[in-house]
Amino acid sequence: MTEIGSKFIEEVIDLTHDGDGVVRAGDLTVFVAGCLIGDKIEFEIVEIKKNYGIGRLLSILEPSSKRVSYAFDTKSLGGGAPLIDLDYKAQLNWKWEKVKKDFERIAGLKLEIRPIIGMGYPFRYRNHTQVPVGINNGEVVTGYYKKGTNIIVPMTEDYLQPELGDRILSVVRSWMGDQSLEPYDRFSKTGKIKHIGIRINQNNEAMVIIVTTFDKLPELHSLVHKLITETPGVVSIYQNINPDDGGTTYGRQYRHLFGQEKLIDYIGDLRFEISPNSFFQVNTSQVSILYDTAIKFLEPGSLDTICDIYSGIGTISLYAARFARKVYGIESIRAAVENAKNNAKINGIQNTEFIADRAELAFPDLLRAGDAINKVILDPPRKGCDKKVIDALLLHKPETIVYVSCNPSTLARDTKLLIDGGYEVKAVQPVDMFPHSAHVECIVLIKRAESRVK
Ligand code: SAH
Repeated sequence: MTEIGSKFIEEVIDLTHDGDGVVRAGDLTVFVAGCLIGDKIEFEIVEIKKNYGIGRLLSILEPSSKRVSYAFDTKSLGGGAPLIDLDYKAQLNWKWEKVKKDFERIAGLKLEIRPIIGMGYPFRYRNHTQVPVGINNGEVVTGYYKKGTNIIVPMTEDYLQPELGDRILSVVRSWMGDQSLEPYDRFSKTGKIKHIGIRINQNNEAMVIIVTTFDKLPELHSLVHKLITETPGVVSIYQNINPDDGGTTYGRQYRHLFGQEKLIDYIGDLRFEISPNSFFQVNTSQVSILYDTAIKFLEPGSLDTICDIYSGIGTISLYAARFARKVYGIESIRAAVENAKNNAKINGIQNTEFIADRAELAFPDLLRAGDAINKVILDPPRKGCDKKVIDALLLHKPETIVYVSCNPSTLARDTKLLIDGGYEVKAVQPVDMFPHSAHVECIVLIKRAESRVK
């Protein structure tokens, strides 16, 4: 019987988007945290929902043969790297299979999937981290929360961010010790320092963002001095004031303390100015591969009018604009659209137009307005494209659609709708944007099936 409290021994057959193990318990699919695909585990059912159950791991009886070990404590990387104990090749393999299976299961499509593009060195790739500060046995510690808790696992080396980040955090810890500064405590809601935000560009220059509960913190002067003298490479320092409990890491108010106001970074040869609160893709080197592939698929030329739907800060639009007649970007977040306009300006790109609106409203309007859009880029959030966007595409039938997706399930669903409406899939390219996470990114080239169109 599958009921709360019953125990099972099963092999983990799949992983969820959060990196939890997927097992079967009788007829029920159960998600269990803390195990990897291929592990044989004992677990107990703790919750039963409509379509699935939640299990608690009791023990790993036979670890997967694909497990690897490292010289550092992988648990200290917290929830951001749930697959880290799995051999990187096995991670890539699982991601590739996920794309293949979702197309088969959801869309009934047996497609040729290109080999996934992984990283040569899948570590120290994150250009932005936000690390909580806390206390452990009387010592100031920095590290991530143990999954589902408020407990910080002390971390001295973060193998997901550049080494400069480790040095910055070490300076912050010793400064807090010297100054007897209390980290913020989520239980008692006391203490002054909450998080350290670190953004590092490809030149190994860092912006440090110290998130504090209070506005006035005179001790920050000595931290600025210490960071400048002890960690070459720190080019910008901000204080962020976040008196709120929970919610977002960064509060609304920033105070510039030292150096450059913006960090400069490049994707391909496009220049970006990054403010402490800017959105910027986390894995800079993989994102250029992603966009290069998108552009190869799109083949933008001087006669093309392109619409980049879900355009964010305009990165793909700007990539394409250099080859195209005109590129429209549609994005619902106004601040991102302002960023996109500024990014066009600093790169001297004049043939883009960014629209701040919901794609399901703005895209049909744009088509009705009559500028003949013949190529489209789709890069929606996890829930995929709004049906109205797909309907507009099927009515208007642009020749080429390049679909960039972070969720193979909704990608398969939307692709099926396009195929039923007279399109063909020409290529599917997965790219690993987040090694050690269960995220799967994929680009699909979809073309109008000429034979079915007059
Ligand atoms: N193409 C961008 C960002 C893609 S992320 C890049 O490569 O960086 C998806 C984007 O879709 C986010 O910026 C999000 O704000 C935006 N978005 C979400 N729902 C939307 C909607 N209904 N209409 C337009 N944009 C939307």
